[in-house]
Parts: sequence; C-alpha cells; structure tokens
Amino acid sequence: MDHVVVVGSGASGVHFALSLLERGHRVTMVDGGKRGPVPPHPDATYTQLKERLDDPARYLLGEDFGGVVLPDSGEEYYGVPPEKGFIFEHPDGFAPRSHGFSPLFSFAQGGLAEAWTAGCYPLNADEIEDFPFAHSALQRGYETVARRIGVTGEDDDLARFMPLHEGLMAPLRLDAHSELLLDRYAKKRSWLNARLRCYLGRTRVATLSRDLGDRKACAYLGRCLWGCPIGALYTPSATLRECMGHPNFDYAGGLFASHFALGAEGRATELVARSIDGTEERRFGIDVLALAAGTLCSSGIVLESLRRDGAGDVALEGLMDNRQVLVPFVNQRMLGRAFEDEAYQYHLIGLGIEGETPRDYVHGQITTLKTAMMHPVVQSLPFDLGTSALIGRATHAALGVVNVNFNDHRRPGNSVGLSGEDPGNLVVRYAPASGEGDRLKRTLKTVSRALRKLGCWVPPGMSHVRPMGASVHYAGTLPMCENGGAWTTDPQGRSRDLPNVFLVDGCGFPFLPAKNITFTLMANAVRIADSAF
Ligand SMILES: Cc1cc2nc3c(=O)[nH]c(=O)nc-3n(C[C@H](O)[C@H](O)[C@H](O)COP(=O)(O)OP(=O)(O)OC[C@H]3O[C@@H](n4cnc5c(N)ncnc54)[C@H](O)[C@@H]3O)c2cc1C
Ligand code: SF4
Repeated sequence: MDHVVVVGSGASGVHFALSLLERGHRVTMVDGGKRGPVPPHPDATYTQLKERLDDPARYLLGEDFGGVVLPDSGEEYYGVPPEKGFIFEHPDGFAPRSHGFSPLFSFAQGGLAEAWTAGCYPLNADEIEDFPFAHSALQRGYETVARRIGVTGEDDDLARFMPLHEGLMAPLRLDAHSELLLDRYAKKRSWLNARLRCYLGRTRVATLSRDLGDRKACAYLGRCLWGCPIGALYTPSATLRECMGHPNFDYAGGLFASHFALGAEGRATELVARSIDGTEERRFGIDVLALAAGTLCSSGIVLESLRRDGAGDVALEGLMDNRQVLVPFVNQRMLGRAFEDEAYQYHLIGLGIEGETPRDYVHGQITTLKTAMMHPVVQSLPFDLGTSALIGRATHAALGVVNVNFNDHRRPGNSVGLSGEDPGNLVVRYAPASGEGDRLKRTLKTVSRALRKLGCWVPPGMSHVRPMGASVHYAGTLPMCENGGAWTTDPQGRSRDLPNVFLVDGCGFPFLPAKNITFTLMANAVRIADSAF
C-alpha cells in the first residue's frame, strides 16, 4: 500500500484520489478548501426563487451588484454570480502577474469546475497522437469517470468527432430553441456537411438525466448558473465527498501548499503549506507526491521548490489554452416567443467543424438564452442603454451564443515562471501563434454561414474574442512523453527530474485539442492512478 500526498481537490485531484483509494492505497489531500453557501429552496424553480427569497436581487445579482457586468466594462462577457464568488477567492499574499493572459485560479473544494458548464468531450485517437499511450488506456478512464459522474449524450452527427463510450446516459430534455435549431439542421444537413464541413448534434454534459447515488436527475429548475441545488449538474466536490467516506482518506483543507523540500536525487521529502490566512505552517512527510493543483498552481509549486533548492531562474515553457470566441445570434423563428424559465440553462447542442487535419477540428457549444443573465448581450448592442434593453427584452427567447473553441500547441515563450522581485509569486506569459487572426476570421465566417443556413441572423461586429486564459483549459508546462529531457514526465505522469513527484493535472498534456479539457483531465488522472500504483 502506497501513501500518496495529493495537492488539490479539483476535477483532476478527486478522480486520481478516488482511484487510488479504490485500489487500497492511503491518500492525504492538501487543499485550498474554500466552501460556498448551500443553495436556498432546493425545490424552487428560478421564477419561484424570485418569489420566495426575501431579497432575490441580493441572491441573483449580489449585494454590490458584483454579478453584473456593466456596459463599457471592457474585456469580458461574464460576471460571477455572488454565490460563486468563493470559487475564485485567493489566499492572502497570492498575487500572480500575467502578460498576454488572464488566468483564473481557484482555492475552493472542487476547484474551478465548481463553476463549470459541464461540457464533457472525449478525445479521439488523432487528438492524442502526441500523448505517449494508446487511446484504449484513456477510453477506460473516460468510462470510469462517466460511470462516476454521469455524462449525458447521443449517438448523432457529433459522434464522428467524439468517440462513444460506456456509461453515457440519455440526453437532457431540449429547450424549444435548441430543438428548432436541430430540426432546421436535419433539413439543411447535406449542404452544411458538404459545403462547410459543419455538423450539429447534442453536446455531452455531466448533468444527470436520471438519479445517480444521492444526486438527483435534472428537474429543469433553470438555476444552473447560481449552483444546481439538487446536485444534477456534477461538480468535483461530489467526488470529494465520496473520497471522504473512505477510511484511508485524510483531508487537510484551508491550506496553501507553497513548495516541497528536496532531498537526495531530487526526491521530495516534505510538503510545506501555510493556512489560507497565512498565520500557521504545516508540514507533510512525503513517500509519493501528486500535484493536482491545476496547471498553473502545480507549476508554481514545482518552481518554488526549485527556487528554494537554489536552482536559480527556471521557467516552465509550453503553456497552452484554448482560444474562445463568442458568437451571438438571433433566431428569427423564435422572435415573439416567451423565454423558457423551466429549462436547462447551459448548452444542449453543439457544432463541430472539420479542419485541415483531424487535430484542427473546431468545437462549438451552442447556448440558447433562457434564465441566464442577459445584460452581457444587451450591453454590446450598438444602441443606447434604454433602446438596447427594450430590444433585449423583445428578443430574449430568440437569442443564442456559440462558444467557438480552437486548439493550441506548445510554443517556447508561453511560460509559467516566478517573479524575480517578488519571490514566490507566479508570472504567466503568453503570445498567440502567428497567423491566429486569419484562422479566427476564416472559422468565424464558416460559423456565421452555418448559423444563417439555420435561419439565424448574426449581428455584425458583436463576436467577442475572449482573452487568452478565459477558457480556463490550462495545460502543457511539464509534458508527458515517451523519451523526454528535463522538465518532462514519463507516460505515467512521473517527473523525470523529481522521481517521487507525479503531475496528474493538465501540466502533462503535450497538445491541447479544441474540445473542453476537463473530461480528459479526469480520465487521465484515473489512467495514471491505475497504471502507476
Ligand atoms: C466558468 C467556467 C466554465 C467552465 N466550463 C467547462 C466546461 O464546460 N467543460 C470543461 O471541460 N471545462 C470547463 N471549465 C474548465 C474546468 O473548470 C477546468 O478544466 C478544471 O477545473 C481543471 O481542474 P483541475 O483539477 O486540474 O484544477 P482546478 O480546478 O484549478 O483545481 C485546483 C485544486 O487545487 C487546489 N489548490 C490550488 N493550488 C493550491 C495550493 N497551492 N495549495 C493547496 N491547494 C491548492 C484548489 O483548492 C483546487 O481544489 C470551466 C471553467 C470555468 C471557470
Ligand atoms: S436546470 Fe440546472 S439547476 Fe435546475 S436541476 Fe437542472 S442542472 Fe440543476
């Protein structure tokens, strides 16, 4: 029986830990550990919630309206609802800097995926060509994770891009707008496939269409953005609770792990952590250390350990993230209809566009607007606020957004390092690949043509290129490879420089396909636990 110290309770950490526990090993998990409030009135729909709460504006928008993105606020479309603020809070003294990148960090139980939209997409064999293992090994991981968390989906036109796997549940109920788009696609399918190489179908989502353990099937309450009150929408804290039921699991929350001490032959001997408020220090003896603190924080822990060991200035190169572009549209056939409040809020359908090679596949999630906050779309209409609000209300049910995702490659210069002046603080640097502008322009033209064929109007000038970092699919700083040099890992995620340290999150990805990364993070963490221990 091994004793493994795992840092982080995000999607990567909890599935790695659960697989170790199932194999009879002992796990100590060191974690930021922030927790949020319990959602009120768990049986209420979004509309009922507005009636039942004493102060609905405070719950939905925040005391100081922090959940609202105000017009002219610049870069981003999304505000964080107040109930989810805890997910993005930083420990005292944590002050990363970035250049060309807008990173998000979480020190919450469950990590960033406590706020995710649950898109779960298996990669195919072409997309993992650079990964040093067979696709079948990852496929087993997908199946284990799907059984644990419940993934809904369908064998439809998007299955050509996303392999089917065991454990898929029946899809969620469609809202009227998504249904209309799929009907229209059925009529225009041959043209879209042949002319644009564009395919539509159901997205895969980790939201239950039937009960699983103590989590309930989606009851279409329309509250996903504020936190599903019945656990239908999976978050990693559900798996953390499962780990906590194991006798071999110890959880040490409320801690910021800064570094590990190094002994002979680069072996990690002790993990050093301080309480989130900076007042206490705790040390954990290490047989084996697994870093699952998210790509940026895991990289930071490695770098700080090296710095304290006298390694000088090291930066980990090859940071990747998916560029995302939001393309709003109006569906003429939905104009004049009322928006649905009792519906699943996030994407139910998606689009896939074939690229020059299978690795250049472009991935889109289509969200039709229901109870989601409308103001980010309204604010970017080219009219004054009063007129825009009027148009927004009249077109609510007809609005939708395609979130278009592009792949990324490891490139030198895109790195995670430490600040020279302020030791211990992360510095993230990123510059897009040359030719990115043309690639985006070409693809967005295809997306607009596809939407027009589906009967939608794409308002000119409203597509929004999100800043790098916004997709939160960070990867690539300590890549897995069969025969690598310094600052790589073996196929099991074991560092080549630090022989008892495993990287079990996105650090190890040698390539970042366009599909959202988290299902693969979880499957890969399971694969490492099953193959290395
Ligand atoms: C709004 C939003 C929507 C998203 N939607 C999707 C989606 O639909 N599909 C998808 O695939 N992905 C989505 N993502 C991305 C997804 O959330 C991430 O890929 C995923 O959370 C990464 O998991 P992780 O475990 O590797 O890291 P993280 O989620 O970052 O978890 C890190 C964990 O480590 C702990 N930690 C970090 N540093 C330390 C430290 N120094 N000491 C102690 N503990 C530490 C934290 O407490 C946390 O528990 C979304 C993200 C956001 C924010
Ligand atoms: S619609 Fe969203 S909030 Fe409501 S039950 Fe389903 S997943 Fe949960």
